[in-house]
Amino acid sequence: MVSVVAKKSSGQVVIEFKSLRYHDETYNIGDIVMISEHYDDTSFGTLVRVWRKKDKTDPMARIRWFYKPADVFPEKFGFLSQFELFDSDHEQDISVMSLYGKATVLSFEEYHALDEVDEDVYFSRAKYFVNDNSIRPPLEEWQRVCVCNEILNPDLMYVECDKCRKFHHPKCVGVEGKEDEPWVCFKCVINS
Ligand SMILES: [Zn+2]
Ligand SMILES: [Zn+2]
Repeated sequence: MVSVVAKKSSGQVVIEFKSLRYHDETYNIGDIVMISEHYDDTSFGTLVRVWRKKDKTDPMARIRWFYKPADVFPEKFGFLSQFELFDSDHEQDISVMSLYGKATVLSFEEYHALDEVDEDVYFSRAKYFVNDNSIRPPLEEWQRVCVCNEILNPDLMYVECDKCRKFHHPKCVGVEGKEDEPWVCFKCVINS
């Protein structure tokens, strides 16, 4: 571990670390880490701080949790992706022994622009605020698609209009099974 400074906080000398070497992995402040918890397979968080009290040997990792859709929404809405995470304002000190690797969490734009997605790449398009149980930006401001005006779920297949480039559900515009063919949406047809 790389020790940075020892500083006094609330009467106790605390040692801060810039990075942490643990189980063949180097964790830096700001990294997104995978955390094992006994009640869940994998949780995710941003490493905010690694520190320990001077008189104790075990370092602690301060994590800003990513919330999963099931933690935020009462039901499994169709617009929620299985690779969706919500950054949050919830920080917690945990044992560094719970860390077991790093993960990638992209912005929604970065994620949606990918042609192929690795299994362990996630995205976050909103932040969850624990105290007032809200997400920002709110759902009303999330990117919407199709004639049905549903929120974009990057897990789903869409057809793209050759003119306006907007995404549509194949089922909603009657082109199921013809997703690879050139297609222009109804709005663009009547406007041309
Ligand atoms: Zn639709
Ligand atoms: Zn169009």
